[in-house]
Amino acid sequence: MPAQCELCGGLGQEGRNVCVACRNDMPALGPACRQCAVPLPAAGLCGICQRHPRPFVAATAAFLYQPPLDSLIQRLKFPGDLRLARLLGELMAEGLCAQFVTPLDVDVMLPVPLHAARLRERGFNQALELARPLARCLNLPLDTRCAERVRATVPQSGLPAKLRRRNIKGAFRVTAAVAGRRIAVVDDVMTTGHTVSEFAATLRRAGAVSVTVWLCARVPR
Ligand SMILES: [Zn+2]
Ligand SMILES: [Zn+2]
Repeated sequence: MPAQCELCGGLGQEGRNVCVACRNDMPALGPACRQCAVPLPAAGLCGICQRHPRPFVAATAAFLYQPPLDSLIQRLKFPGDLRLARLLGELMAEGLCAQFVTPLDVDVMLPVPLHAARLRERGFNQALELARPLARCLNLPLDTRCAERVRATVPQSGLPAKLRRRNIKGAFRVTAAVAGRRIAVVDDVMTTGHTVSEFAATLRRAGAVSVTVWLCARVPR
């Protein structure tokens, strides 16, 4: 069976579930804030990051959370579709590897952990599935054992911005294995950044030397 495009049903390119036209429609991240990856007219530091330093050194994304990519990411979560996770992971790896200048100041990649209850419900952690092709492409180790989500939180997407920080506070626990390491945190989408900020802050308190954030998509403000 030839691969079918997940977006338009057309013929997939090179056995992949996306066609050439839909791949070309994917909204690549252009000039952006070097700290939080929000789009800017020219690369620099956005107003929010100037006023509020974040617990991670930099964030970057392969794409903007816009059509047609946003629909693929939504379908990834509700309900979980592992084949989509693999496709998005490959697209994310292509997008990021094209941006990166090696050597990267990173020792290990950590997907944002999912709570055990949510993992059972969904069947997989989308951040981990997205991270796999990127780890292969960058030849970096992936660690899924030194961090866990100890609190099942309400999805951030359903909350107003001012409640998001409180919702995620204390949600993560990490082991001493993160101490002395330069870490790249991987997640699917960043909106306000409260989730990755809380995770990064937890890692820094446990002795991580630095935290960088790698995303599939950034929601433009
Ligand atoms: Zn298509
Ligand atoms: Zn910023």
